[in-house]
Amino acid sequence: MEIFHPAEILSRDEIAAVQTRRLARVVKRAARSPFYKAKLDEMGVDPESITSLDDLTRLPLTTKDDLRASYPFGMLADEHRELVRLHASSGTTGAPTVVYHTKKDLRTWADLMARCMHMAGMRKEDVFQNIAGYGLFTGGLGIHYGAERLGCLTIPAGAGNTARQIKLLRDFNVSAVHIIPSYALYLAGVVAEQGLDPRDLPPRIALIGAEPHSEEARRRIEEMLGLKAYNSYGLSEMNGPGVAFECEHQNGMHLWEDSYIAEILDPQTQEPVAEGEVGELVMTTLTREAMPLLRYRTRDLTRFLPGQCACGRLHRRIDRITGRADDMLIIKGVNIYPMQIEKILLAVPEVAQNYQIVLEREGYIDQIKVRVEIKEEFFIEDMRVLGGIQKRIAGLLRNELLVTPRVELVEAKSLPTSEGKASRVVDLRETKD
Ligand code: ADP
Ligand code: ZN
Repeated sequence: MEIFHPAEILSRDEIAAVQTRRLARVVKRAARSPFYKAKLDEMGVDPESITSLDDLTRLPLTTKDDLRASYPFGMLADEHRELVRLHASSGTTGAPTVVYHTKKDLRTWADLMARCMHMAGMRKEDVFQNIAGYGLFTGGLGIHYGAERLGCLTIPAGAGNTARQIKLLRDFNVSAVHIIPSYALYLAGVVAEQGLDPRDLPPRIALIGAEPHSEEARRRIEEMLGLKAYNSYGLSEMNGPGVAFECEHQNGMHLWEDSYIAEILDPQTQEPVAEGEVGELVMTTLTREAMPLLRYRTRDLTRFLPGQCACGRLHRRIDRITGRADDMLIIKGVNIYPMQIEKILLAVPEVAQNYQIVLEREGYIDQIKVRVEIKEEFFIEDMRVLGGIQKRIAGLLRNELLVTPRVELVEAKSLPTSEGKASRVVDLRETKD
């Protein structure tokens, strides 16, 4: 196995030793911030007393609301003059949150990112196009500096402007891209619509992440674009991309345990779930200087995958994210995650690239409607054909969800697309009553 960084091949004992040492250090550092100083005092935890991994459970959990409440400086553990960058969340769902970085933090992040890219098969000889929004979104600069650290010729293409993206891919014979999965499907559709085969585009590798996507979506991206797509997981609070990534075996994402301690907890009780069960991923930063976070509740649902990966790396793997704890829809008393719907839809050959989930209220009853784009060749005037497709999709969804959604077939490319993360759920329930 070729590695980028020696930390990739630590033994389990070595990982535990690094984590123990770094946990002790990071708690002391966190205690310099007003937020954690108060929190640790209140809980009666002396930072000096953190000496083993078992001490982790004595530490406070940290939530997104804590970050919001301490905006803008409350979680800062370093002096202002040591800071060189900040990233902030968009704040569309509430007050913004901010994460700071020192020079060393940025170097560590770039190293982690380069490690991920190398693990997925990228090399310094690759020409890399970063199709992601730059600016405060971490998928821009975070990925960018990783690719440069690896030594790739890096094209900061940014998001959107599909025609220009395609031109850059061709003109510079781009061999690897970073792209949000929903946009990858959209881009492939645009090329196909021009009567060209998206498989003829040069890239051989796509790093896809930043939003939940199903195995079916990955397969479609791989087939449509004729490349290998690797799942990339991260969040701004943990730097951004570079937290967990797939290796060449594409069977779950290795989470870099020399830089993060990961726990999977029951979102209700905050107790660890049984080994291999799905729960909320909770992480502690082990290397961040400017703004350490202890036991941060990501709200992302996943599980540790059992067994060892064939690649030989012993960093544990997490399963693809099934959704966020707050993504769950409750329809007629049944819990539904949007990913369950995507998984079904994208396995249907007649379905094009996009879909939308609409929640409506009729009387006092919530209804779920799924609007699905159908490929042009099937979207013909023959009502029987379309009726058949519609019935089949409704049946498949009913079997998966245990409620019967309404299914509406629409023409390819008629649903809204986004240059950034896709928003698939439209909730019309509030405005109806
Ligand atoms: P926000 O979307 O809150 O502005 P981020 O850009 O940091 O902030 O997004 C991080 C979130 O994106 C993660 O917590 C997770 O929900 C989602 N995410 C990132 N990568 C993946 C992935 N590979 N699979 C599924 N979800 C992902
Ligand atoms: Zn592996």
